[in-house]
Amino acid sequence: MNLRIPGPTPCPQEVLQAQALPMVNHRGPQFAELMARVTDRLKQVFQTSGDVFVLTCSGTGAMEAIVVNTLSPGDRVLSLTCGFFGERFAELAQAYGADVVRLDFPWGAAVDPQRVRQALRDDPSIQAIQIVHNETSTGVTNPLREVAALAREFDKLLLVDAVSSLGSLKLPVDAWGCDAVATASQKGFMVPPGLGLVSMGPRAWQAHARSRMPRYYLDLGKAKSFLERKQTPWTPAVSTFFALDVALDLMLKEGMHRIAQRHSALASRTRDGVKALGLSLFPEREADASNTVTAVKVPQGVEARQLLQGLRQQGVELAGGQDQLSGKVFRIGHLGYVTEADIDGALLALEKALAAQGYKASAAARRGSSE
Ligand SMILES: *Cc1c(COP(=O)(O)O)cnc(C)c1O
Repeated sequence: MNLRIPGPTPCPQEVLQAQALPMVNHRGPQFAELMARVTDRLKQVFQTSGDVFVLTCSGTGAMEAIVVNTLSPGDRVLSLTCGFFGERFAELAQAYGADVVRLDFPWGAAVDPQRVRQALRDDPSIQAIQIVHNETSTGVTNPLREVAALAREFDKLLLVDAVSSLGSLKLPVDAWGCDAVATASQKGFMVPPGLGLVSMGPRAWQAHARSRMPRYYLDLGKAKSFLERKQTPWTPAVSTFFALDVALDLMLKEGMHRIAQRHSALASRTRDGVKALGLSLFPEREADASNTVTAVKVPQGVEARQLLQGLRQQGVELAGGQDQLSGKVFRIGHLGYVTEADIDGALLALEKALAAQGYKASAAARRGSSE
């Protein structure tokens, strides 16, 4: 199966095989060595000299960890939303009693730093900013670097959902000034689901010292004291740790810069292929289009569910639209362990599945190219 969804993503054979290794004592020397090795290399991937923790949870758990470890009930939080995952981040902070001020952008648009600047000027009581680096639901990458610069300028804590970006897109955590960053194993890391990965910089730890949100399983204070002994507070997903260990080797061998370049090239190839079929990208501006996931408008006269079914019958799995985009877009994941052949195969299957629904791909493409 050509699994072209934005997570879980395909895993290299050696990563999957690592999961079949026998269990070890998670309080013993073997695990301690593994934990030290994984943590050290994760810092290279995050490009941080801060702390990085491996939590046994999904990406949402990692997002929850950075919220409950830095904020207090009643804290005013500027939540930047332009899609399904931005909504989730805002809701999460709200669920723990943060005073969330939303700055909404249309789905398909990116966060506009000018409006963020205005919001920060207008409301000095804001303490923290939440942003999704790569909005997987709309296929838009937000200008994180610019928003991070604003967070520094206005002295606000910056919490980042980087679940579908870190490990695939350029994201130097320290250089950009991201205080707390959350990601997960099953997207750009080429590892099965099960591990949430979070970084905490010095400002995030200062916030942690003041933070009064309830927390227990995800308490990073506990994680930090156990990390000193190269352990986790609770039983970790040991097999997924084994897999991450192997994947980190592959990632650092390729290099973070080359990984970002590969994703950029694969994304261009995907966007060009989709446009050649006469289809339209969902993001309003192609300059905002993500290099990890391409969201495409379902064309007139085509039924999204049937289209995805037609693709599945050809061995290609694409993702549908989430929430308000259900039936309106489909999404092609191109992050992690992906080759040009995977993209070309998916595009060919897409052309056939569209044709099966009476969509005139080539005629439409000719119209598109003559515009
Ligand atoms: C996948 C994803 C998540 C986390 O999802 P989980 O199912 O909890 O792992 C969060 N944010 C973004 C942007 C994502 O793409």
